[in-house]
Amino acid sequence: MSQGFKKGSSRNKMSLKSERRAIHVDQSELLCKKGCGYYGNPAWQGFCSKCWREEYQKARQKQIQEDWELAERLQREEEAAYASSQGAQGGQSSLTFSKFEEKKSSEKARKVTTVKKFFTGSSKTLPKKDIKEAKTPSPSLNRQISVETDRASKEFIEFLKPLQKAGHDVFKQCKIFLEAMHIKKESNIEEQSEFTQDFYQNTADKLQMYWKVSPDKVEKVMDQIEKFLMTRLYKHVFCPETTDDEKKDLTIQKRIRALHWVTPQMLCVPVNEAIPEVSDMVVKAITDIIEMDSKRIPRDKLTCITQCSKHIFNAIKITKNEPASADDFLPTLIYIVLKANPPRLQSNIQYITRFCNPSRLMTGEDGYYFTNLCCTIAFIEKLDAQSLNLSEEEFNRYMSGQASPKKQDSESWPEDTCSGVKQMHKNLDLLSQLSERQERIANGARQLEKDLIDWTDEVTRGVQDIVEKYPLHIKSSNQALASIDSENVEDDRLPPPLQPQVYAG
Ligand SMILES: [Zn+2]
Repeated sequence: MSQGFKKGSSRNKMSLKSERRAIHVDQSELLCKKGCGYYGNPAWQGFCSKCWREEYQKARQKQIQEDWELAERLQREEEAAYASSQGAQGGQSSLTFSKFEEKKSSEKARKVTTVKKFFTGSSKTLPKKDIKEAKTPSPSLNRQISVETDRASKEFIEFLKPLQKAGHDVFKQCKIFLEAMHIKKESNIEEQSEFTQDFYQNTADKLQMYWKVSPDKVEKVMDQIEKFLMTRLYKHVFCPETTDDEKKDLTIQKRIRALHWVTPQMLCVPVNEAIPEVSDMVVKAITDIIEMDSKRIPRDKLTCITQCSKHIFNAIKITKNEPASADDFLPTLIYIVLKANPPRLQSNIQYITRFCNPSRLMTGEDGYYFTNLCCTIAFIEKLDAQSLNLSEEEFNRYMSGQASPKKQDSESWPEDTCSGVKQMHKNLDLLSQLSERQERIANGARQLEKDLIDWTDEVTRGVQDIVEKYPLHIKSSNQALASIDSENVEDDRLPPPLQPQVYAG
């Protein structure tokens, strides 16, 4: 936090400068909602890791308590039933006692065997073979992973050596933990996460209380433990098939792709990419956030987020010629994430949330930037016309790809812009103009079709009106003619015309 936030001051300036509604999150909203002062996270329903675990454990404790009570009641009932059946013969107390002893010893034996299983299992060959059988990617990838895992183990052992007995104990505990995780690998990812978090917590406590290691040294040991464990567990617990992480990745990726047209101006991003140093910072920030996916250890992923954030702060600082504020930061992070479209974004966030050493997420730079990244995703998911200072209609047109906002003129590009990029922008412009024209033509054609139909209707209606107004009374000429004819029918029976006759006389 050496960047020196000037809380609120720039917000006022921004609202003075323009009426536009800037993307803003109150710094207090980043904190745990229980008010403990640590950073909260949407994945923990706004709590910090510590408070979330307390809430979770409270609920779980209650469940365990209830289970216990039920078990005790059943036991009492069973004993009472047993006692009443044996009561007549006496000596019930010793019988109950022996039964209890029997049960206790059998439980003991079971515990011993499970613990033994942990130890015997750690005899190198078994788990490795198992893992290989379970999943066989490409041999080269396998080799690369095993090389990395071997290196991590060697480094871990080297690191622990100076700690002597405590180091030996830590290594043993880690091995036991890995075995237990291997057994758990089919179970629910939240359970595995909980188990890991418990392990981190217990180990840190033990180092401090039992082995009297100083707090800052404990942090270092915990980092190494996380590294050692997560290089081994990564491929089983990153984006597991049992979750909908992959689906969420695709959803956010699609969403970011649909928002490709968003400009820095729309987000009120105080970054001028025309300045070479600034555009350099932007490129670095994008590279960092994309690189996060290639890391296997949660802490390394967090480092990528922190690096990205620092490049963003620098870009703002160079643009504005003054230290960046937290209010400048969030919209710029949104812009960078939109430009980068980082691979498997949700999976990475989930993985960090589940398997990172919790103390790292609750305080410090890493925690702060991580919480901001989570906020960024939430913003991207619900980005709308209003938050981009656009009309509903414009937003919908851009989202549907019917139109794209006016691209910057080629004159305003920095001189060193690659000509290919320029050409591409020109072509994109042409394409968008073309699509606009096509849309216009299609609209015209639709209008013409409608006009034609209307015209036909109109003509038909006009003709009907006229016909109704001036009905054509055609006399039933057929009948009239027929009657004339029929008059003549009678004539047929008339006597023939008189013929001149000669009378003798
Ligand atoms: Zn808290």
